[in-house]
Amino acid sequence: MPRMIASRNLRICTKDCMCLYVCPTGATDTETGQIDFKKCIGCGDCARSCPNSAICMIPLDYPHQQPKDAKVVDAVRGISRSKAVQEAIARNVAETTDDAGLRTLMSAVRRSDRLMGEDLIRETGFLLPQSGEVRRMLEAFVTDPPEGFPVEAARELLRTMRFNS
Ligand code: SF4
Ligand code: SF4
Repeated sequence: MPRMIASRNLRICTKDCMCLYVCPTGATDTETGQIDFKKCIGCGDCARSCPNSAICMIPLDYPHQQPKDAKVVDAVRGISRSKAVQEAIARNVAETTDDAGLRTLMSAVRRSDRLMGEDLIRETGFLLPQSGEVRRMLEAFVTDPPEGFPVEAARELLRTMRFNS
């Protein structure tokens, strides 16, 4: 049985109901609204009792990523680049056209390209939260942060997450 921890989705939690009564450690009763991970023992009672499905059980230990051969890596890179290029073209068209309909269409294409690119990278295992790729990405962003990047939050993730490579 993998070790788990509970996480509450604050957007759909309607507050002050079942999980407060079933938690054996009082971890659900926090002032911040989030579950106290230091008290959580991962029993899952809160998730099972929540009427809004607002609590997810998150594994603490993840399996290692499957190795990928060069063909897969090349294919993922190629498709990701093409999605990034398509996104840039759609953004450019949306920002320069006077046609409101075309602007709306290109905005949708831009978002779609971004989602497809992200899905592809995630589903091929390059953006698993525990992976070395994510660790290296966070380290790079902390060293040279893009504008608006939450450096302190990234430092906290690097300090607390259990990366497996
Ligand atoms: S998993 Fe168990 S210990 Fe953790 S918050 Fe939920 S009820 Fe409490
Ligand atoms: S049981 Fe669900 S909706 Fe109720 S307080 Fe807990 S997380 Fe929120």
